[in-house]
Amino acid sequence: MEQNHIEIIRSETKKQKPQTKELEFGRIFTDHMFIMDYSVDKGWHHPRITPYQPISLDPAAMIFHYGQTVFEGLKAYRTKENKVLLFRPKKNMERLNLSNERICIPPIDEEFVLEGLKQLVSLEKDWVPSAEGTSLYIRPFIISTEPYLGVAASKTYRLMIILSPVGSYYKEGINPVRIYVERNYVRAVAGGTGKAKTAGNYAASLKAQEESEKLGYSQVLWLDGVEKRYIEEVGSMNIFFKINGEIVTPVLNGSILPGVTRDSVIQLLKHWGVPVSERKISIDEIYESFQKGWVEEIFGTGTAAVISPVGELNYEGEKLVINNGKTGPIAKRLYETITNIQNGTEPDPFEWTIEV
Ligand code: PMP
Repeated sequence: MEQNHIEIIRSETKKQKPQTKELEFGRIFTDHMFIMDYSVDKGWHHPRITPYQPISLDPAAMIFHYGQTVFEGLKAYRTKENKVLLFRPKKNMERLNLSNERICIPPIDEEFVLEGLKQLVSLEKDWVPSAEGTSLYIRPFIISTEPYLGVAASKTYRLMIILSPVGSYYKEGINPVRIYVERNYVRAVAGGTGKAKTAGNYAASLKAQEESEKLGYSQVLWLDGVEKRYIEEVGSMNIFFKINGEIVTPVLNGSILPGVTRDSVIQLLKHWGVPVSERKISIDEIYESFQKGWVEEIFGTGTAAVISPVGELNYEGEKLVINNGKTGPIAKRLYETITNIQNGTEPDPFEWTIEV
């Protein structure tokens, strides 16, 4: 289809690629970006790859006022054979549309945007770093662009994909983090936007994050926004517990983001024959189980860290030390298996990776 032809305007200059030691998260961007626009009469149209550059928007553009926007995050990995692999990108396209639905943004053609994403990554292949643990972070996002101050869904949108080479999350090997159980602020509420990857959820999380950092913790454990009793997520990750031999994770209830890593962990555990269940988990259950010595492991899951073991939970001032503050065997096995599938050093029984 003519409308779906992706025009490519190449950058005349090339930026210098960073050294491995300069790589952190999301500070350096590649030479090109993908763009596509939406209007009511044309639908999603004019897909193009252009030089990475600032965009110009009307100050009244709705994104600035009411935050009607969604985003995604996934990674491309370089294998030893110099192939570039994407990890479960269809899940991210699917989730982008789930977020769109919640935020009243018109749906995208998932296959077409994935094709645009692949063409962009292919053009920027040299930007995919090769050192262990490094990757090319991919950020698709959609903003509302109509210049209008009425509170309503915008009539025009722009979708963009930008790329950022990122360093290893674990510079000194997989390391447990200290977590503060947040009893004051909440991230999401029942019926709210927690299940969508939308900016407001992250704006709402900053205050608790800042306060927990001041107390020496790296992230907060979010409880539900109604009773402040049931566990939802940890920082911007999903959470798993191993309690008395059973692995449990909070069931998706509408206020929890359905993580791609969460889904991968559940599939892998089932594949290994390790019992795993999705259910409501209260903070009281964790506290009581801890007192009985049943809490064997806690870990977060997400694209950034893959698996992030929790070494300590601060629960109302009491420090609950998990597995002697060390990484547990399930967290370690999951981390190694998933990262090996991502970088192509282990068979991929679920066909999770897609070569660019
Ligand atoms: N919860 C939140 C709030 C997140 O931002 C993320 C990161 N996308 C996750 C969970 C983990 O999701 P994923 O495994 O898809 O990265």
